[in-house]
Amino acid sequence: MQVDLMDDAYFFDQFRYDQWQRIKDTTHFQLDHSATKKNKIGTVGAVACDQQGNIAAATSTGGMTNKRWGRIGDSAVVGAGIYANNHTCAVSCTGSGEYFLRGVVAYDVACLMEYKDYSLEQACREVIGQRLLRIGGDGGLVAVDGQGNISMPFNTEGMYRASKSPDHEIIAIYSE
Ligand code: ASP
Repeated sequence: MQVDLMDDAYFFDQFRYDQWQRIKDTTHFQLDHSATKKNKIGTVGAVACDQQGNIAAATSTGGMTNKRWGRIGDSAVVGAGIYANNHTCAVSCTGSGEYFLRGVVAYDVACLMEYKDYSLEQACREVIGQRLLRIGGDGGLVAVDGQGNISMPFNTEGMYRASKSPDHEIIAIYSE
């Protein structure tokens, strides 16, 4: 596969730069959804299920402004910010990565399904609505199982999300 290499300037983002200027000498950090901005680009997570029940997950992080040097986020860590297994579910997460790593959140959803026989919806609600909150974590996830059931829970004010299946289509920001 051929990939174009770009100069550093290509990746410059004025919004992120200004955000960093305001907090760079503090211990504060900001996720893309913890601030209001006009163009809603940032973290993108996706899960899919094909006709044979094969499932997959992908996560592209919006990053974290003022993160510590050398920090490794959860997005690319299988089991924390992302996970897929045909026997249980495919999960893609967004939120404060430290807590998603600590809670091994994506895998935790799969474990509740596999070991406790939870449905996808029950497992997602338990993990995002209870277990993640208990350790102080904020965020959400999108998930699908091999039967095409979809769950998109979050414990923040809102989460930009959409889903499509043969019998429904959802586009939403806040809770219903
Ligand atoms: N989970 C990411 C991180 O903590 C942020 C995000 O993309 O939601 O690095």
